Amino acid sequence: MSSIRDNLTKIHLRIDAALQGCGRPERKVTLLCVSKTKPIEQILEAYAAGEREFGESYATEAAAKIEKLRELGYTDLRWHFIGPLQKNKTRLVAGHFDVVQSVDRPEVAQRLNDQRPDTLPPLEVMVQVNISAESQKSGCTPEQLPGLLDLVCSLPRLRLTGLMGIAREGAEEAELKKSFDTLRELSLQYREKFAAAPLLSMGMTSDLESAIACGSDMVRIGTAIFGAREYPHRQAQDELRGRVAFIGGGNMSSCIYESVLKQLKPEQITISGPHPEKLAHFQSRGSRITQSNTAALEDAEVVFLGVKPQVLPGVLQELAAGGRDLSSILFISMAAGFRLKRISAALGTRRVVRIMPNTPAKIGQGVTALCYDEGVSATDRSLCEKLLAGMGLNVPGSEEQLNVIGAICGCGPAFVFRFMEALSAQAQRHGLNPELARSAVEQTLLGAALLSSQSRAQSLAALREAVTSKGGTTFAGLQAMSAHGFEDLIQATVQASLDRTAELEGLL
Ligand SMILES: *Cc1c(COP(=O)(O)O)cnc(C)c1O
Repeated sequence: MSSIRDNLTKIHLRIDAALQGCGRPERKVTLLCVSKTKPIEQILEAYAAGEREFGESYATEAAAKIEKLRELGYTDLRWHFIGPLQKNKTRLVAGHFDVVQSVDRPEVAQRLNDQRPDTLPPLEVMVQVNISAESQKSGCTPEQLPGLLDLVCSLPRLRLTGLMGIAREGAEEAELKKSFDTLRELSLQYREKFAAAPLLSMGMTSDLESAIACGSDMVRIGTAIFGAREYPHRQAQDELRGRVAFIGGGNMSSCIYESVLKQLKPEQITISGPHPEKLAHFQSRGSRITQSNTAALEDAEVVFLGVKPQVLPGVLQELAAGGRDLSSILFISMAAGFRLKRISAALGTRRVVRIMPNTPAKIGQGVTALCYDEGVSATDRSLCEKLLAGMGLNVPGSEEQLNVIGAICGCGPAFVFRFMEALSAQAQRHGLNPELARSAVEQTLLGAALLSSQSRAQSLAALREAVTSKGGTTFAGLQAMSAHGFEDLIQATVQASLDRTAELEGLL
């Protein structure tokens, strides 16, 4: 097996040969080491061989690695984000990377600008252009490019440095040349918009020679350095040295336990609670159970606080008095109404996460709101989100948002059941039998929700209007909904939940 150092030597020889081949031996081509999905140890091998520029594609995974390396004292690496960038990941990317090569639409540019921390220099940006004529590949079209370049230039926290492109995998030489030439011609056409001579990031393991022949300034190489990538990502198991503990083994703990089991073996989990008979089902799955909360903390690295809010203060006190250094533990509380501030103060650590799952999490269709305290690192977040991924959608946000999501999604299933009951009662009133009424109502809600999720380009109002012809039956029904105060009803419903949340926070 060849080492990373040997692989790097070979890649540098390939780059030099390619430059010789096109008669430009003096030209400099930067090697970007693409370390996505690869562990820190391998990044450090490339670092030891002299490499400093690294590329990553998955924001959460990358932020964890970047933070870890900075903690270890490696501060002179330059990080390039090269993957498709989702809106909800821009903050993480703006805060961790030196360069983003995959800017391909205005909203992403705007968000990166707005979210780039003042403590860091402007973020270097390359605009990604789709040069492969594959519609599913990312990148703006050549037609969208000038507008996007103008926008990036106008944003003070961004610095436009170049263009990035990906050629079609498996393309023949002629097609590669055409793609790479397109990118170079675009960079020349809009040359005056760039801070300095525009850099071209093009070429990967399989096509770096053609890219260099067409004028590439930077090749992005993963496979030839680190070997083939394994997907899906390493499981949380590799990230945990200790155990996961649940304080309290009730309904929600059981639900989270199932999600955690998708990542860990049952032997890695401890559950504590006062009534061993209620924990028997965990034991029969192979997990450790105990009546002592402090014993559950032994060699735990992640602790879920799953007791009722009323007993939480006592439990926190007990854990804090147990004598263990609690800062080595990531605490995840599912107690409603308990602010992070209170939990952190009681435990003396700010590595605390609040979560608010809802009951469809039992079947992997939940919405879990998450809120992180200041001591929670990117590694902690990534671990936490992996452990909870089996329950459905994770929605990180502020504590205020958590309460809102609690009212909409936590209580929401009950509101929806109430609506289903009412609809089904009407179906029965008009002669459907109860079973048929239930199936028909169920399928209608499922169908409408799925249709909505698959029609994101249309607003909910547009979807509603598509069912409603003027003067028709739906129209009449909707008018009755308005006449009977439907909006007011929903507003009052959500407001009552929020008021009660605030009240409980005050009482607890
Ligand atoms: C993964 C990736 C690479 C590296 O590809 P290899 O074929 O492994 O060299 C380069 N560029 C982008 C944008 C990537 O996502």
